Amino acid sequence: MINYGIDIWGNENFIIKDGEVCINKKSQPSLLSITEDLRNSGIRGPIILRFPHLIGKQIDNLYANFERAISETGYLGSFNAVFPLKVNQYPQAVKSIMEYGSSYKYGLEAGSKAELVLAMAQTPIGSPITVNGFKDTEMTTLCSMAAQMGHDITITIEGLGELESIIEVAETSNLKVPSIGIRVRLHSSGSGSWAKSGGMDAKFGLTATELLEAVTMLQEHQLIEHFKMIHFHIGSQMEDIAPLKKALREAGNIYAELKRMGADNLSAINIGGGLAVEYAQNEHHRLRNYSLREFANDVVYVLREITNAKGVAHPNIYTESGRFVVASHAVLITPVLELFSQDYQEKSLKFSESNPPLIEELRELNTLVKRENCIEFIHDALDHLESLFTLFDLGYVTLQDRSNAEILAHQIIKKSLRLMKDTDTTELNRLQERMQERYLINSSIFQSMPDYWGLQQHFPVMPLNKLDEPAIRAASLWDITCDSDGEIQFDTNVPLYLHDVDLDEEEYFLAFFNVGAYQETLGMSHNLFTHPNECSIEVTDEGYILKNVIESDNILEILDDIGYDKAEILIQLKNNLANSTFTTEEEKSDTLQKLELYLYQNGYLRTTN
Ligand SMILES: *Cc1c(COP(=O)(O)O)cnc(C)c1O
Repeated sequence: MINYGIDIWGNENFIIKDGEVCINKKSQPSLLSITEDLRNSGIRGPIILRFPHLIGKQIDNLYANFERAISETGYLGSFNAVFPLKVNQYPQAVKSIMEYGSSYKYGLEAGSKAELVLAMAQTPIGSPITVNGFKDTEMTTLCSMAAQMGHDITITIEGLGELESIIEVAETSNLKVPSIGIRVRLHSSGSGSWAKSGGMDAKFGLTATELLEAVTMLQEHQLIEHFKMIHFHIGSQMEDIAPLKKALREAGNIYAELKRMGADNLSAINIGGGLAVEYAQNEHHRLRNYSLREFANDVVYVLREITNAKGVAHPNIYTESGRFVVASHAVLITPVLELFSQDYQEKSLKFSESNPPLIEELRELNTLVKRENCIEFIHDALDHLESLFTLFDLGYVTLQDRSNAEILAHQIIKKSLRLMKDTDTTELNRLQERMQERYLINSSIFQSMPDYWGLQQHFPVMPLNKLDEPAIRAASLWDITCDSDGEIQFDTNVPLYLHDVDLDEEEYFLAFFNVGAYQETLGMSHNLFTHPNECSIEVTDEGYILKNVIESDNILEILDDIGYDKAEILIQLKNNLANSTFTTEEEKSDTLQKLELYLYQNGYLRTTN
């Protein structure tokens, strides 16, 4: 049976048991049972399942690996970490991050005013806050207010202009001065799809000349004592470790040089984020070439070596890895609404007394298809179908003939796939590619996996059950937006095989994994599909507890969100209905009731079962 690469991307978080995907913790509940529970309570449409313990696991791993590397090498600096809010600002995610991180003094990183305010409110006093991104005087003042409140906050300068505004706020307000960090522009270039985060052509950071100027300015304004940290971030989803090592050497030397120049309180290097997540479902497409252990060892080792050689104290290490911490905690569950070829049912065939010879031949193929001849028969069927389309375009056959031919061809293919389900032939796989079954999923790719749309980022996907049955249909996935980009395709190198299910008889759900980083606030309300339903799951020894079930916005809320007055819309619709003609008053009030029901439900599709 295929396991959808769960051993590659799953990090032992999920296992397959009795044909279902289960959480590999305590009672090992299946995702299907959780999904069914939620649906029994009336939830429809896509659902984000959050597993807070997986956030805890990543935080534990992060600290454990650095603390081990530090003690093994006799490193004298400390290890500190902050979670970059831009990766997931949703309350339930941030709450878990703060809970699991509190014993480590895990802090938050902010890149905008709103994120800064969130960090000021959520970070316990004593845990660090770092602030990156472009800032105005107001944002600088907010940082000073945070310092005044007692926060351990470091404001990172991305350019000399920002330093001027820090100096201005420091000199004109009576607020405490926050710690000052400087983002350095490295000549060693960045990594991953986000290479513009590092390197000489990067969007952020001070050049060598600007660094010298910054130190002079800080000294002139008696602020040099607040300069505590240098920062770099070479890019997200760093798949290769080599660029990081280069960046560390460069930053380590900058650190040592600045200390030699009189930045006495400079004591920290912030290495940014970038720890990669494995999204591959196929051994040949593994993305990451290092482990967390290797990553931590390299950081500690390189910084130790350089600072030893230059005779300066080992810096405290800060990281801002976000993707690595939260990606695995969220799983997107999407109901399958339709298999497109399900329309091609034998019962819809309608033959006449005399049918075109091609149809008769297809009928014969359909009756005689068996294991030994099915590949040949599929070839013939596709060939006949092609010819029949030509005849139709020329006006020689009827729409009924065409419908019959389409149904027969699909029947032959389906029968063959079932006959051959235990054999793996190259030709059958090649044919499958041409005849991919389209599975319609009740969700929006734009809303729930925007990085698939924007960056061709693949997310591991698998069905929740039937994992002990052969999956015989090569699939492509279509979402319910009216946009042709709302499709996830799989090519021959990495096909996705799914089950041939009859949705009139049973439900079928697909789960997308590792969707906990970046997708939620990047998600777009294209076609006005909004953030899915969500729920946090606490796994216990006996079962699980569903917490914080939050339903997707209802239709009126969606319209309200983009600026319509929902009361006005409701009145408008009610008036229209009141003025329309019904035979009885009862019909009118029934319709009104139904309308109201619809308006207070989310906008995803609602199947009856
Ligand atoms: C985006 C960002 C991060 C987080 O990167 P990940 O790849 O999610 O670990 C960290 N630091 C800065 C400055 C960032 O811009």
